[in-house]
Amino acid sequence: MSNIVAIVGRPNVGKSTLFNRLVQRRDAIVDSVSGVTRDRHYGKSDWNGKQFSLIDTGGWAIGSDDVFEEEIRKQVEIAIDEADSIIFVVNVEEGITPMDTEVANLLRKVKKPIFLAVNKVDNAMRDADAVEFYNLGLGEYYTISSINGSGTGELLDALAEKLEADIPVENELPRFAVVGRPNAGKSSFINALIGEDRNIVTDIAGTTRDSIDTKYNRFGFDFNLVDTAGIRKKSKVKEDLEFYTVMRAVRAIEYCDVAIVVIDATRGFEGQDENIFWLAEKNKKGVVVLINKWDLIEKETNTMRDFEAKIRKEIAPFTDVPILFISALTKQRIFKAIETAVEVFENRKKRIPTSKLNEAMLDFFKNNEPPAYKGKYVKIKFCTQLPTPTPQFVFFCNLPQYIKESYKRFTENKLRELFDFTGVPIVIYFRKK
Ligand code: GDP
Ligand code: GDP
Repeated sequence: MSNIVAIVGRPNVGKSTLFNRLVQRRDAIVDSVSGVTRDRHYGKSDWNGKQFSLIDTGGWAIGSDDVFEEEIRKQVEIAIDEADSIIFVVNVEEGITPMDTEVANLLRKVKKPIFLAVNKVDNAMRDADAVEFYNLGLGEYYTISSINGSGTGELLDALAEKLEADIPVENELPRFAVVGRPNAGKSSFINALIGEDRNIVTDIAGTTRDSIDTKYNRFGFDFNLVDTAGIRKKSKVKEDLEFYTVMRAVRAIEYCDVAIVVIDATRGFEGQDENIFWLAEKNKKGVVVLINKWDLIEKETNTMRDFEAKIRKEIAPFTDVPILFISALTKQRIFKAIETAVEVFENRKKRIPTSKLNEAMLDFFKNNEPPAYKGKYVKIKFCTQLPTPTPQFVFFCNLPQYIKESYKRFTENKLRELFDFTGVPIVIYFRKK
């Protein structure tokens, strides 16, 4: 089950400040790839034992100034369609603006939980000023200060009450999500794969919520497709909006084991593709990259090699990912694509016995000691893989604080080389013995 919470509101009301406050603590622990500053507008958090994903709508590129209000309205509409709950942020310093009223009008019709957060209530005096926001017709509101954190606990309590508890998934079959920007060829790929035209185009909002797993047996493999592609294609929403692409991908990715990221070869690997790739990495999902429409590319000797090298550069440091060149149209390599996704699924479940791990890694460390720091030597004594759903390793040592990011990566690369975790994000911890 996923809990997707979107933060909406006008620019400068404090959305990203609130976002940071709500996810930072959690992110610091989860995000092993430090130095990656790609996007800070999607994060995971939990409160009262309930997990949720938070999306700051303001963080996504919007169009030019003259279509500004229109763009904001579209983002709110997308959030309404795709999120499970919405936090609507307004600014007590400015009071109700016409744009706030417009957003409130959209939200009032929605059946999902809506939380009105009156921000910048930094002191008790401003509490009284917040009363006017009753006029938005959204009922109760939460006065918060994203800067100093006051009130955010109450907001989170209310939010958590509406969140779904995690339900463990029974089905052991691989769950594949086919994700990518509009027109990359996701539906064509799925149709080529399952050999029927089942991606019925529908305009019914909310259909995506129910269309999660469908079981298939193809090419000798059993798998579930987590399918949100192709649905609501003719929606009123402008599809090229980056935020739309991301919102479509979030739920599918959170729900899958392996994200099959479809790229349009004629457009190359661009910002939206990178965002989707990064969502999968961030969620510690398996990843397979498919360069689709390869039939349309005029090929010379090094075309494929150069294309691949360019993508690997973009996805660094998580480059140990299968990249396949396919055509959904001619069905070239679509079997290989599924076969690879199954391999990645297996890699993600892989458990390395502790004795085997220690034997290999301690030997490696002996010959590749971490660099001494301030005259102190780091000794790594023992390691183990944690019993987590995705590969995580702990290395016990005397001075974990002296382990640099580069050494972590070095260790990760060795693990990948020894045990094959292709397509799978790995998390590594150095801990005090
Ligand atoms: P966004 O455009 O809605 O994402 O807004 P930002 O989070 O970027 O915040 C806009 C400005 O408001 C920044 O200068 C923030 O420091 C400031 N701000 C955000 N939250 C608060 C708050 O709770 N109190 C005060 N006084 N300022 C805030
Ligand atoms: P989606 O929005 O990602 O589901 O993309 P579609 O599957 O609807 O495909 C978008 C367009 O690209 C359609 O016109 C497809 O016929 C075309 N297309 C998809 N895959 C291929 C391919 O491998 N080769 C070629 N030449 N066209 C393709």
